[in-house]
Amino acid sequence: MARYVYDFTQGRRDMADLLGGKGANLAEMTRLGLPVPPGFTVTTEACRAYLSTGGEPAGLWREISAHLTAVETTAGRLLGQPDDPLLLSVRSGARFSMPGMMETILDIGLNDESVLGLAKVSGNERFAWDSYRRLVQMFASIVMGVESAHFERAIGDLKAERGVRDDVHLTAGDLAGLVGTFKELVHRETGEYFPQSPAEQLRRAVLAVFASWNGERARLYRRREHIADDLGTAVNVQRMVFGNLGPDSGSGVAFTRDPATGRPGLYGDYLPDAQGEDVVAGIRNTVTLTDLEHLDPGSHARLRAHMETLERHYRDLCDIEFTIERGTLWMLQTRVGKRTAEAAFAIATGLADEGLITSDEALARVGGDQLARLMFPRFDTSQTGDPLARGLPASPGAAVGAAVFDSAEAVRRAAAGEKVVLVRQETTPDDLPGMIAAQAVLTSRGGKTSHAAVVARGMGKVCVCGAEELAVDIEQRRFTASDGTVVEEGTVVSVDGSTGSVYAGPVPLTDSAVIRFLENGSTDEDTTGVADAVARLLARADSVRRLEVRANADTPEDAARARRFGAQGVGLCRTEHMFLGERRKLVEAMILACDESEREDTLAALLPLQRADFTGILAAMDGLPVTIRLIDPPLHEFLPDRTDLAVRIATAEARGTLPDPRDTELLAAVDRMHEENPMLGLRGVRLGLVVPGLVAMQVRAIAEAVVERTRAGGSPRAEIMVPLVGAVEELRIEREEVERVLHDVSRKSGVTVHCPVGTMIELPRAALTAGRIAKEAEFFSFGTNDLTQTTWGFSRDDVEAAFFSAYLDKGIFSASPFETLDRDGVGRLVRIAVDEGRAARPDLKIGVCGEHGGDPDSVHFFHAAGLDYVSCSPFRVPVARLEAGRAAL
Ligand code: PEP
Ligand code: MG
Repeated sequence: MARYVYDFTQGRRDMADLLGGKGANLAEMTRLGLPVPPGFTVTTEACRAYLSTGGEPAGLWREISAHLTAVETTAGRLLGQPDDPLLLSVRSGARFSMPGMMETILDIGLNDESVLGLAKVSGNERFAWDSYRRLVQMFASIVMGVESAHFERAIGDLKAERGVRDDVHLTAGDLAGLVGTFKELVHRETGEYFPQSPAEQLRRAVLAVFASWNGERARLYRRREHIADDLGTAVNVQRMVFGNLGPDSGSGVAFTRDPATGRPGLYGDYLPDAQGEDVVAGIRNTVTLTDLEHLDPGSHARLRAHMETLERHYRDLCDIEFTIERGTLWMLQTRVGKRTAEAAFAIATGLADEGLITSDEALARVGGDQLARLMFPRFDTSQTGDPLARGLPASPGAAVGAAVFDSAEAVRRAAAGEKVVLVRQETTPDDLPGMIAAQAVLTSRGGKTSHAAVVARGMGKVCVCGAEELAVDIEQRRFTASDGTVVEEGTVVSVDGSTGSVYAGPVPLTDSAVIRFLENGSTDEDTTGVADAVARLLARADSVRRLEVRANADTPEDAARARRFGAQGVGLCRTEHMFLGERRKLVEAMILACDESEREDTLAALLPLQRADFTGILAAMDGLPVTIRLIDPPLHEFLPDRTDLAVRIATAEARGTLPDPRDTELLAAVDRMHEENPMLGLRGVRLGLVVPGLVAMQVRAIAEAVVERTRAGGSPRAEIMVPLVGAVEELRIEREEVERVLHDVSRKSGVTVHCPVGTMIELPRAALTAGRIAKEAEFFSFGTNDLTQTTWGFSRDDVEAAFFSAYLDKGIFSASPFETLDRDGVGRLVRIAVDEGRAARPDLKIGVCGEHGGDPDSVHFFHAAGLDYVSCSPFRVPVARLEAGRAAL
């Protein structure tokens, strides 16, 4: 038969699955000889048995009784003993901390008789009646289901009657009267009397804590924190100690290091003459541990010694709850403590320096998400009010600027030195100049892989997207929040891309020392030492990782920055980004060309521009691979908006003038090229196969850039990548064209241009036929944005804002598959493609360049799947380096 109860002397730290985090750590402290009030833990297994049958597991009470006897023997008194009662606390404690989400019942063992005994032995009548009052209230609401509000109302009535404001002004007699009122209330509400039997109190309290695992609060919390629903909670039953017995008593919380900065040295709060709950509730102002040293030097010295013991034993920052009962120190809880990102880095390197952990352990203790948080300027959130709106936190960081409603205005104001936030319903490639000029981009539509989000992340620009509560009126140049606040153009707003919050007015910023270090390699100006810690752990990650890290970069500036951040090449250069701005006219002309020669003319005009782009990127990444992807999106993305054209034509007609013939021509082209489902239409390799001359122009520009760089003494390493291939035949035909042009340029220039030709794997069919495709590809790069889109059948531009929050709430997935790779589905396709691709071509180089390449969890998957590299936006390069190192540990 299962064993359901463990004494604190029988458990260990590594038994958290069975004893919960709190129970395992209480046992560990007991084993270390620290002063822990005696007690025992009822296991999570007992909870699971209770939840599955709805009844008390067989044999449970017999085991609890035996352990209770042991605690009573140690204490030399019985639970609820009338003249000197032993009292117990009954607390929840799951495997993963769920602060405040489940129930706790204190002072079990008090009844009409033992309250008198407690008053006598404590010499404090008021304390005894107040404890009894708390027990009746907690027990009745948690175990017997009486609405808490009834008790609150009774307390309120009594205070009004006595003419006092605070509970502390109620006398022992008042509280004794209140206990009577409470007991009547319980009888009236339930038809049952408050149980006087201490054993019955204990038995029912344990089961009620089990049941609280399925309380609404707890369920919601688990869903948000991705904690499994079937773990159950353990229950810790422990002798009560009291911090509220007078000035020589008190309760406190403490950390072995500062959890905000990671600096060594004790850190904590103490509240004299109070119970633990009062410290957390913040009812009275606490004092520091230094003050405790003056109040009670003995307890302070013992606390200090115990904390040192704990930190050395756990080899990490520990947090602690303690109580001093009439000069005796008791340790009530410890665990490895939560900390800020900054502290995580400082503590990991600090502990390594002290020899407590190895450098690999230090690396394992920090994460890419923490590093990302350190890289962006942050808002000082202590100074913010309620946000105007919340959207999707699409690209982290904090930005303040005047709201502007179109790209041109953003550029104009930025050129005049003003900081601006570009606000749009959604962005298009046309908005790029405005996005570059702005501090942040805010949209009311679109998900985390919407244009605004992807581009902003690529630029390391703050972005909140899909803030649907905002009514954005571009015409009137203002937006309205759901509370009616109207923000006109020019009004300052603050955008927090880490939380998705948008604030009216400026919120102060704090700078990131880490970004300064990553940009210029110096940690000198960093007074907190966090940049130094980041530098050391990144160096460690670089020395152990197998995965290479490249960057997605489309400009020489981005490529250069990525290189400073440690990128080992460009894994994706999206060439279509080079068709914007001034060049649109040329692209339009190419699309509208009536005949072969007109098309060739426009392509010839584009050629030198593309060549200059590639030359710049190859120079910035000299000696390192640069994967250049041939044009991917449907051409009509480069034409003007249909509605704008139609309006222009209609306005001209209304004025009685002839519309601009170019507008008419463009409108006809837009209509001709319209696709209901452009993401599944004429794009990627399909475009290269049906639009004559386009691929040849791009390849020629690449090859000539290679020649130019070679002649300049550089080591250009261009790679040519074909997007959206679904069949090997597509790649074979396109590849022949690519090689024909490379050969031609080599022959004419006298410089041998060799560029490996590879393909993106971004369609399920490509993954499933990877063995055949590999015959024509020298490398694969997984385009996991499209692969996720096509595997799930989710439109990457629409679904996140449309219904992902409902899917997350329902637990259909725990993170957006566009952010964190779906291992079961998309991941399976990745593995098939890796295996079959390598079987066909053992030296096949394989990487990923979708957004997942910079996502910490996904990086671990790509390491395990045997990829050679990940490629991500420049600002995520350090994150990917760190995670690639951690994955290799
Ligand atoms: C992808 O699909 O993952 C990819 C990198 O290409 P894009 O995002 O440009 O479609
Ligand atoms: Mg793609």
